[in-house]
Amino acid sequence: MPIDQNGDARIGGVSLRSLPKVSLHDHLDGGLRPATIIELADAAGVAVPVTDPAGLGEWFARQSDSGSLVEYLKTFDLTCAVMQTREGLTRVAREFVDDLVADGVVYGEVRWAPEQHLAGGLSLDEAVAAVQDGLEQGEDAAAAAGHDIRVGQLITAMRHTDRSLEIAKLAVSWRDRGAVGFDIAGPEDGFPPARHRAAFDYLAAEFFPATVHAGEAAGLESIRSALLDGRALRLGHGVRIAEDLEVVGRDGEDVQVRFGDLAAWVRDREIPLELSPSSNLQTGAIAAWGTELADHPFDLLYQLGFAVTVNVDNRTMSRTSLTRELALLAETFDYDLADLEMFQLNAAAGAFLPVEEREELIGIISDGYAG
Ligand SMILES: [Zn+2]
Repeated sequence: MPIDQNGDARIGGVSLRSLPKVSLHDHLDGGLRPATIIELADAAGVAVPVTDPAGLGEWFARQSDSGSLVEYLKTFDLTCAVMQTREGLTRVAREFVDDLVADGVVYGEVRWAPEQHLAGGLSLDEAVAAVQDGLEQGEDAAAAAGHDIRVGQLITAMRHTDRSLEIAKLAVSWRDRGAVGFDIAGPEDGFPPARHRAAFDYLAAEFFPATVHAGEAAGLESIRSALLDGRALRLGHGVRIAEDLEVVGRDGEDVQVRFGDLAAWVRDREIPLELSPSSNLQTGAIAAWGTELADHPFDLLYQLGFAVTVNVDNRTMSRTSLTRELALLAETFDYDLADLEMFQLNAAAGAFLPVEEREELIGIISDGYAG
């Protein structure tokens, strides 16, 4: 299924971009437009490696495909460097919503770590407010143009620093003003959720939802800690849960699989997996299975009944969109519209929203796919 020059693809004549989508795992500092980076860098006196938007877009792709974590992380140094002021944060958040709208997203959750945006003198609270302003500007502009979208903040703490309790309190303090959940990100291996137990205990006592990056750079122990110590309601990627599955036989299309207790729990409790196909390839999260999208355990997890969702992770680094991720999956695993609809319904069901709003989303998706 060819992706056209507008970044769209079609199944049975239906534009994938036009279909309603839910984006759950989408980093603010991973979704900047190259042209915006250049403008903001110019104003802030930040050096950019390439000074034209197309070339900078290619630089992101090269760095991210390099196979080197050091080179990959340089891309975030650049995006974060231009997000240290109120103006920078607000503009990036505003454009983030605009870009989701163009991708057909009707509900999104944007994650970012306020503690990484204080170098220009903003307080944590001011940084969250700046992002919230941009999100609301984007929502209002979309509504004026006839497209309803809501984007909630997932306030993220960094795993390798020790501010997680403070960040958890920040998230809860914004719960009725735009924050919908909490996340921890950064180096997974060696920095388990157990290290942030105080933050997760606090969130649990406040009944504030958390998703946890786990099962990406580390394996089953990390997922176990995300569920036990983090009380994660969703897993950020979680792809390595497939390590707890043993394929014991195949009969044509049918695969017989033995489940470990952890995998059984994640499937049977319908804990959403925030899978990000292109990113999972680039970061080596699926290295145990191979290097091509066809090697991704996505389809196995889907066929076995896990609550799989499709995500972009970092649109700029992976030069992707939700439309493109869906098209790549459909092409690789021969999915039809009913499959793609299921991924959106899973995401709607897993959104950190009150149940009536999730049901409303489910209605929007069903209507959209019904044509
Ligand atoms: Zn992520």
